[in-house]
Amino acid sequence: MSVKELDISVVIPLLNEAESLPELHAWLVRIMQQNAYTYEIIFVDDGSTDNSWEVIKALKAENPAVRGASFLRNYGKSAALAIGFERARGRVVITMDADLQDSPDEIPELYQLIVVENYDLISGWKKKRYDPLSKTIPTRLFNSATRLLTGIKLHDFNCGLKAYKHKVVKNVELYGEMHRYIPVLAKWSGFKKIGEKVVQHRARQYGVTKFGLERFVNGFLDLLSVTFITRFRKKPMHFFGLLGTLSFLAGFGITLWLGLEKHFGLNTREVVEQPLFYLSIAALIIGTQLFLAGFLAEMVVIHTNRRNEYKIEEQI
Ligand code: UDP
Ligand code: MG
Repeated sequence: MSVKELDISVVIPLLNEAESLPELHAWLVRIMQQNAYTYEIIFVDDGSTDNSWEVIKALKAENPAVRGASFLRNYGKSAALAIGFERARGRVVITMDADLQDSPDEIPELYQLIVVENYDLISGWKKKRYDPLSKTIPTRLFNSATRLLTGIKLHDFNCGLKAYKHKVVKNVELYGEMHRYIPVLAKWSGFKKIGEKVVQHRARQYGVTKFGLERFVNGFLDLLSVTFITRFRKKPMHFFGLLGTLSFLAGFGITLWLGLEKHFGLNTREVVEQPLFYLSIAALIIGTQLFLAGFLAEMVVIHTNRRNEYKIEEQI
């Protein structure tokens, strides 16, 4: 079967979600059949240690539309999504969590938004969440910071339920833990029509959440890198070079001033006794360092082939 012959690819990253999978699969199949979609369901087992992979193989045996890949170890949700995206053949690609917190009932509307309204990406918005407060409050902060820094007006960046045009998933480069920022990456890859849809959210039925409090620290650091990288990845010199130049010029200016002052006898204090002297030295050194950082980063950019290599144990 060639690319885009299917209406929908559902991509589901999962880590130790064996109990949820049969129910999720049955529900998805019901929705697909009711709407007469041609579809595939791609389960990406992100190194589960329970019997998730066996469950997926059993589902494959009863339904050929099921596909799957299992990682040799846990690489993280972004890696799992990246492999799903690589394998997806549907016109519309829908991602969802495996824990039944996202509802397959949303799929027909998401599909319509992409196909009829021509959106590149629709992000789910869990307006009413069934999560503990310890998670919902930091999430609000995280979302407003992301809106502010990226200029993308979404309420819920990290919602697992999203729908994409085929070409979007083939063109965003997911790496690290950047699944939280796919809309940002998509926008920077040139996909501008990004929207959102309020989606139902349900409490987790089985198993436990896979992300602890460290998600907020990591999420914040990733936000800094994603804003930096989307803007300057191809031209780090524009960032470092500018700062370096400013710092160097400041240092140079101060040194010049100190020299002239001394020469014309405007200041009787020794040069080394003036605080400005130390400031100028620091500024000159920092400026040079920033410049060097910029050059080095440019060289890294030139020589890096950024393909992710994940070890896949088995594919079906
Ligand atoms: N997940 C994954 N790899 C990981 C962590 C999580 O594939 O390293 C999957 C997980 O199984 C689930 C989805 O990502 O399908 C979202 O995870 P979770 O429900 O734990 O996150 P939360 O809903 O608490 O944000
Ligand atoms: Mg969840």
